Amino acid sequence: MKHYAGIDIGGTSTTIGLVSEEGSIIDRSIIQIADFASDSIDLFIEQMALEVEKLAEKHECKIQGVGIGAPNGNYYNGTIEYAPNMPWKDVHPIAPVLEKRLSCPAVLTNDANAGAIGEMQFGVAKDLKDFIYITLGTGLGSGIVAGGEVIYGHDGFAGEMGHSILVPDGRNCTCGRKGCLEAYVSLRGILETYRDLGGTGETTPKDIAIRAQNGDELCVEVYRKTGNWLGLKLADAATYTSPKAYVFFGGIAAASDLFFPSLIETMEFNIHNLYRDKIQILKSGLPLNDAAVLGSAALVM
Ligand SMILES: [Zn+2]
Repeated sequence: MKHYAGIDIGGTSTTIGLVSEEGSIIDRSIIQIADFASDSIDLFIEQMALEVEKLAEKHECKIQGVGIGAPNGNYYNGTIEYAPNMPWKDVHPIAPVLEKRLSCPAVLTNDANAGAIGEMQFGVAKDLKDFIYITLGTGLGSGIVAGGEVIYGHDGFAGEMGHSILVPDGRNCTCGRKGCLEAYVSLRGILETYRDLGGTGETTPKDIAIRAQNGDELCVEVYRKTGNWLGLKLADAATYTSPKAYVFFGGIAAASDLFFPSLIETMEFNIHNLYRDKIQILKSGLPLNDAAVLGSAALVM
């Protein structure tokens, strides 16, 4: 049996998983990003390499390749570029350094693309050739698959649906612009919507979801609006690649019963006739804690 390393680089921690070719995670180790200073990217890469070696040694296997999912990851040159929420700004080669260091192929892409690949290999998208994968968490990420291939674009950055404009001159976005979809449909966006609608006090999107499930009208409205906004953009997105499905993943997707109805209603109302009643709305088939590692490993398989 062949073994691969799947690495999920996140804003707070990085998970290194040892993955079998059938898609089970045999073991994993975690690096805390807070342990590294802004000038220590080399140390961080070396730490990832050491963790891969340790896992391979512990389970007495040879690593065939390393797949990496990272925010603002560039598939073509294996770099992380100007990633928000990371200590390292600018452009940093990750995959080429790991490839040399570990003497095996290393491939990197953004976390949503890695998720889409994992979903094709092991999840609900096994039989889908045209779909858009959407991660709903701190931000809104998307991976576009057309004809069975992830679309990377000419520079490696295709699929940033979270930064398409929903409201001209609207809410501030982390990208420095205004009115992006992500500023409305994300954990951060949900909190802002809660306050905009008159909600007060310390709360979390999860708490708002629980209150909505218990019938709190304001909280129901927060998720209903979230679904409306996303549905509108998904009606638009259909015109680009005519997807057979939108596949949802992430913490917010767990509250799908609260926003899928308004999402579907708004999407179908606004969508062009050619695409109406044709697009499936699906939830990821992969466990929340495993998807990113599996997707990253699938990238290099
Ligand atoms: Zn933005």
